[in-house]
Amino acid sequence: MTSSVPPSTQSAVRWFPPSYDIRVETVPIPQIQDPDDAIVKVKLAALCGSDLHIYRGHGGVDAVHTCGHEFIGEVVALGSNFGAKVERRPFLYSSLKVGDKVVSPFTSNCGECHVCRMGYTARCPKGKLFGSPALEGGQAQFLRVPMAGGTLFNLSDPSTWSSNLSQEIKQQALSELSDSSLLLLADILPTGVFAATQAINHPKVQPVVTGRPWPLCFSDSPAGNEVMLTQEDRILTVAIVGLGPVGVCATVSMLDLVATKGIPYRIVAIDPVESRREKVKAVYDSIGDDGKGRGEFVVLGIDAAKEQVKAWTKGTGCNAVLEVVGNSSALTLAFELVRAFGVITSVGVHGEPQIPFTGREFYNKNVSLDFGRCPARAMFPPAFDLLVKRQDVFGGVGQANSLIDRIVGFNEAAESYRAFDKGEIGKVIFDPWK
Ligand SMILES: [Zn+2]
Ligand SMILES: [Zn+2]
Repeated sequence: MTSSVPPSTQSAVRWFPPSYDIRVETVPIPQIQDPDDAIVKVKLAALCGSDLHIYRGHGGVDAVHTCGHEFIGEVVALGSNFGAKVERRPFLYSSLKVGDKVVSPFTSNCGECHVCRMGYTARCPKGKLFGSPALEGGQAQFLRVPMAGGTLFNLSDPSTWSSNLSQEIKQQALSELSDSSLLLLADILPTGVFAATQAINHPKVQPVVTGRPWPLCFSDSPAGNEVMLTQEDRILTVAIVGLGPVGVCATVSMLDLVATKGIPYRIVAIDPVESRREKVKAVYDSIGDDGKGRGEFVVLGIDAAKEQVKAWTKGTGCNAVLEVVGNSSALTLAFELVRAFGVITSVGVHGEPQIPFTGREFYNKNVSLDFGRCPARAMFPPAFDLLVKRQDVFGGVGQANSLIDRIVGFNEAAESYRAFDKGEIGKVIFDPWK
């Protein structure tokens, strides 16, 4: 007799303390625990640079747990708070159905508190990071998503998020985009867009963007006898430090922003690793003119980049530096490259060491330092639009210009962690059913 009883166990990629110990285990399939929960059957789950903090034992974590915070899948069960007409709660509580395709930001968030309403969803007081001891991760065949109506994005219903694209284009894109491409929306693409968006909208960058000196750049009042900016002053100079997958996303996003806003620019993308530099060059070459506007773009190692910025700016430095690594030496380089009255936006996960500057050094340079985790749920709409627009970069797997290196089964999980940690491979995606 064949059983119609659904399976009660599944495969999951688990981390064991203290470090470098990844095992694929058979564990129970999660069940609805709370009326706001959804159970998602995972189609694909990605390995991310920030998984490596825990992998290496640097995450301050000592409990065995299922890894992974980037996943895409299908809803297979919903808690009792999902229904036809749920008043005064996120719309997904009324509309999400079993069978819908979903992608999740890398943290859960309620979508209903003051912090979430402000768009700062990464810091929802009730939020948890997937793939941590607080919340089992997505490198599994199934996982439980808490506060699912506030957390998930319903890819089966594009009317449920805002976009600059028409409903028709969204719908068409969703029928054409691969799951591996859509999975970039879980973390790395919103995070890259976040870094670039924070930099270009920062108050200190507004003289370049508006062509009016600070603080006239914030008002419509007529200029007095101020000396106005020259053409040269209006060239936005940006450095991007770190060209891993998030650095690539930040680069593509920054190029798209300056192209869209018509800002002349000089951008230097920096990484000491040659293979990463080659990847970014291939990405840049494949971007159409609509995504890179008017400007100079170079990809360099650290010392050459310092020289380039000096030559471009006569020693003044960059208006903005995107720090996409998350360690002291990357911050030190960013501080060296940024000009007085410049901004550093740092989106890497930082570990224990102190910030390598003093208050006096900040004071003496009037540098703004913008730190922290991307509110991936809030950043989803612009990230989605960029994903659709830049399928020339975000669509492929395993090409010279692709962000995603390969898609493998869980049988290659431990080796993938090892090789990714050593920088031998790029972004890896797991297919839990392979
Ligand atoms: Zn990630
Ligand atoms: Zn919240």
